[in-house]
Amino acid sequence: MNNICPWCGSEKAQINLWLKDEFLTKEDFHICECLSCGLQYTMPRPSKEKIGAYYKSDEYYSHQENKKGFIPKLYEAVKKVNLKHKLKIATKGLQVGKLLDIGCGVGDFIHVAEQQGWKCLGVEPSDDAKAIARKRIKANIINSEVLEEIPDESFDVITMWHVLEHVDDLKWQIEQLRRLIKPNGRIVIAVPNYKSYDGQFYKELWAAYDVPRHLNHFSKQTITKIFKTKELELKKTEKLIWDAYYISFMSEQYKHHKFPLVKGAFRGLLSNCKARCSGEWSSMVYVFERNL
Ligand SMILES: [Zn+2]
Repeated sequence: MNNICPWCGSEKAQINLWLKDEFLTKEDFHICECLSCGLQYTMPRPSKEKIGAYYKSDEYYSHQENKKGFIPKLYEAVKKVNLKHKLKIATKGLQVGKLLDIGCGVGDFIHVAEQQGWKCLGVEPSDDAKAIARKRIKANIINSEVLEEIPDESFDVITMWHVLEHVDDLKWQIEQLRRLIKPNGRIVIAVPNYKSYDGQFYKELWAAYDVPRHLNHFSKQTITKIFKTKELELKKTEKLIWDAYYISFMSEQYKHHKFPLVKGAFRGLLSNCKARCSGEWSSMVYVFERNL
């Protein structure tokens, strides 16, 4: 199968890592690095028809509700704190306006944004997630392709919380972001960072590679360069400190070592400590602004 960079279309790439779908199928994949633009991407890429099968698991947390046990309870508690932090990153200093949340899942983020008076629209491919979301939020939820029918410059804020790494048509998605954001509007993108300490430590067992559900793998350098070609300037970066613990815990499980919770907590703490100096957090939040 030919390597084709999902951003620049170059076929020149090197293989950086061989790894498995540790989460579900145990199938083999590899991570390519585009020698033209530097983007890292998963190969082989499942077709649009087949990708759905890789999401079919009761353990896929983002769409799960009301689970029992210590880890799900901890996950829910952390999620609440995280949501407030995310809302602050996305809306601090702005007047209340229109917000688009792409990959809204069951509507957690829109729920907190609506409580602050934001008029929201959600994009979500999963019918199950949509059905849950519609019971708890006011916002309309659409399929991704419907974005093309929305007029230019419709939103003050667009958020993608751990979504851009899943996107199949990266070029189309970033063109839509550029088209839909108002001048001086804010685009907030959270993605895993393979340059973080935990990414470098766990290597092919790093849970945030999550192949083939994650198709695109960004560093600060590559995402900044990609967005700049669309006149979207990086204004600042933020961190999501809990992701280092969660990803380290998952990675320890993939290693089949004893005490994954304790070891994951240690590795996550170490990752966050190192990131204070390096700026390479396990999950990065990039805040872009449209200048033109
Ligand atoms: Zn490229």
